[in-house]
Amino acid sequence: MSFDAQELYREVIVDHSRRPRNRRAIESPTGHAVGHNPLCGDRVHVYVKLDNDGKIEDVSFEGGGCAISTASASIMTETMVGHTLDEAQKLFESFHERLTRNGEGPPSDELDPISAIEGVRRFPARVKCATLAWHTLKAAIDQRNGDVVKTE
Ligand code: ZN
Repeated sequence: MSFDAQELYREVIVDHSRRPRNRRAIESPTGHAVGHNPLCGDRVHVYVKLDNDGKIEDVSFEGGGCAISTASASIMTETMVGHTLDEAQKLFESFHERLTRNGEGPPSDELDPISAIEGVRRFPARVKCATLAWHTLKAAIDQRNGDVVKTE
């Protein structure tokens, strides 16, 4: 990865951690879950509202933790809104694959926000920070009755 790209990615993370998007509760969500990463102390609440067609009409989070977990939660909400659950599942899988694949691999050419988060795979201890909000969204989607679950 070129120095310029690394610098850009760093700025994306700083921006999302300082000014997180969609950091708020959703009134009467169709799902809500709490994610906790004890290794780092990150804790996020994720709210999701599905429309009648099963599309993600709104998604938000509260809480956070370190810069990586907060930025990743913010990026997750922007990535997921407007997608069907099938599309959301594919986005989740591709995100997870990009963060956990072995070795450096070829850097993504796309300068999307997920590429910024992807850099944490060089720091395995931080991968849990980055995936926390995404796992919590899955739990929120599965918990349509609004119960609170804990994911680790
Ligand atoms: Zn963290």
